[in-house]
Amino acid sequence: MSLSEIQSRIARAAQDCGRDPDTIRLIAVSKVQPDARVRAVLDAGQRSFGENRVQEAAGKWPAFRADFDGIDLHIIGPLQSNKVRQAMELAQAIHSVDRPKIAHAIARIADETGACPDLFIQVNTGEEPQKAGILPADLDGFVTECRGLSLPVRGLMCIPPVEEEPSLHFALLAKMAARNGLEGLSMGMSGDFEKAISFGATHVRVGSAIFGDRQP
Ligand SMILES: *Cc1c(COP(=O)(O)O)cnc(C)c1O
Repeated sequence: MSLSEIQSRIARAAQDCGRDPDTIRLIAVSKVQPDARVRAVLDAGQRSFGENRVQEAAGKWPAFRADFDGIDLHIIGPLQSNKVRQAMELAQAIHSVDRPKIAHAIARIADETGACPDLFIQVNTGEEPQKAGILPADLDGFVTECRGLSLPVRGLMCIPPVEEEPSLHFALLAKMAARNGLEGLSMGMSGDFEKAISFGATHVRVGSAIFGDRQP
C-alpha cells in the first residue's frame, strides 16, 4: 500500500470520528526494511519514522539525514540502559519508557546535556509476562516518579496482545492517559490504526502496511 493511501485512510478515520487529521502523527516504522524502500518513502515526503533497535537506527539514519531535512526519529522498541544515551542522541521521541531504571538513566543524561526527547511511557495493558511495559496498576506512581525527575512525558504507548480485540486496550490506554493529564496516545499499527484513531490515538506506528512485509 502506498504512503498516500495510508494518509487518506488516517484522514478518513479521523473525519469519521470528528477529529482533525492534523492531530494524528503517522510514524512510518522502518525497522528491518531495505534502504531503497525507506528512501522511496522519504522521497514521497514522509519525515517521521520509527525504529525498534537503537543499534539499527544508529547504523542507517545518519546517511538518510545527510540527504533529507527534517527527519523525526522515534525509538519504539525496548531500551537497555546502556543504549539510553545513544537513543537520546538519535531520536526526537522515545515511546518505550517502561521502568524506573530507564527513567532515571534518561533523567541523568538530560541533566548532563540539557536536552531530552519527548517521552511516552509504554504500558503493558495485556499484562503479558513476555512483553515490555509498566503494568497498569503501577502506571500512576510511575508517571509521578517521572514528573519528579522533570522528564518530558508526553503520553502513553501500548501494543495490544495479538490474540485480543485491540479496542479494549486502546480504551484502557486513553483512560489512563486522561487520568494522568497526558495528551499523547501512541497506539495503532498496520492492522488496527483506524480503530486506534477512533479511541484518540495521536501517534500511529505503521510498518508493513507502508513498506510491505519485513524480511526476517
Ligand atoms: C514493528 C512495530 C510496529 C509496526 O508494526 P506493523 O504491524 O508492521 O505496522 C509498531 N509498533 C511497534 C512497537 C513495533 O515494534
